[in-house]
Amino acid sequence: MHRFFIAPNDLTGEEVTISGGDFKHITRVLRLGPGDRIIGVLPPGREYTVEITLVGRDRLFGRVTGQVGRLIEPPLEVTLAQALVKGDKLDYIIQKATELGVSRFVPLQTERSIVRLDEGKAEERRLRWQKIAQEAAEQSGRTAMPLVKGLSTLTDLILETGSYDLAFLLWEGENRKGIKSLLRSARNPYRVLLVVGPEGGFSPKEVAQARGGGLTPVSLGPRILRTETAGPVAAALLLYELGDLGGPENEDRS
Ligand code: SAH
Repeated sequence: MHRFFIAPNDLTGEEVTISGGDFKHITRVLRLGPGDRIIGVLPPGREYTVEITLVGRDRLFGRVTGQVGRLIEPPLEVTLAQALVKGDKLDYIIQKATELGVSRFVPLQTERSIVRLDEGKAEERRLRWQKIAQEAAEQSGRTAMPLVKGLSTLTDLILETGSYDLAFLLWEGENRKGIKSLLRSARNPYRVLLVVGPEGGFSPKEVAQARGGGLTPVSLGPRILRTETAGPVAAALLLYELGDLGGPENEDRS
């Protein structure tokens, strides 16, 4: 069955309304109509089977016929703060990290980011990235939609490090501490922040600023990874160690 997000306002009792792009997709691409079923996903974690009852000109109506119950969302809320990078690499990073289970994205303007975005352009991109996250979430069966935040800076991020249980700056210059050793001393973390630099990396000044601001530099091993590899790999390692990427035995957690 095909899965679509439903907004809280679009569910009244058992009645579901779907409009916009999803409406077009369901009726024109999938050619579904009255009597057909889809899965309606209501973030952060509920999923319903929905039977289409009526198709209008620009919206359709459905009725909830049951609830689907399996825990899909990871037990860890991972935020990936990724420096702006060239071309469409951020599209790829957001798509892959969403599949892996990342919950929030923060695009970062850093010293060595080659790309610069003014406010208008940044909002345009954010909407595009949000759409990529939504599509990846739907495709991979997630029940929560990852959020793409507005363009931010390291300074903004540092103001928020207190709200995370763990905050890591991925830095190839770190040669002592890796993710595994840092997780060993962490007690039941829930909110985790990963900060990844641009193609040219972070400047020494930024690394010092991050350190002073509560971000712990962490290594991903002795080889230099491309920026688009670093974020998804770090997220996968975290979700493997503390989350549910290890497989079904993790599903027993309460
Ligand atoms: N400054 C480097 C490469 C930067 S790689 C150079 O030009 O030689 C881009 C980003 O990926 C880095 O800022 C860092 O966040 C991350 N990264 C890549 N390899 C890494 C590693 N081995 N350990 C930790 N982070 C790494």
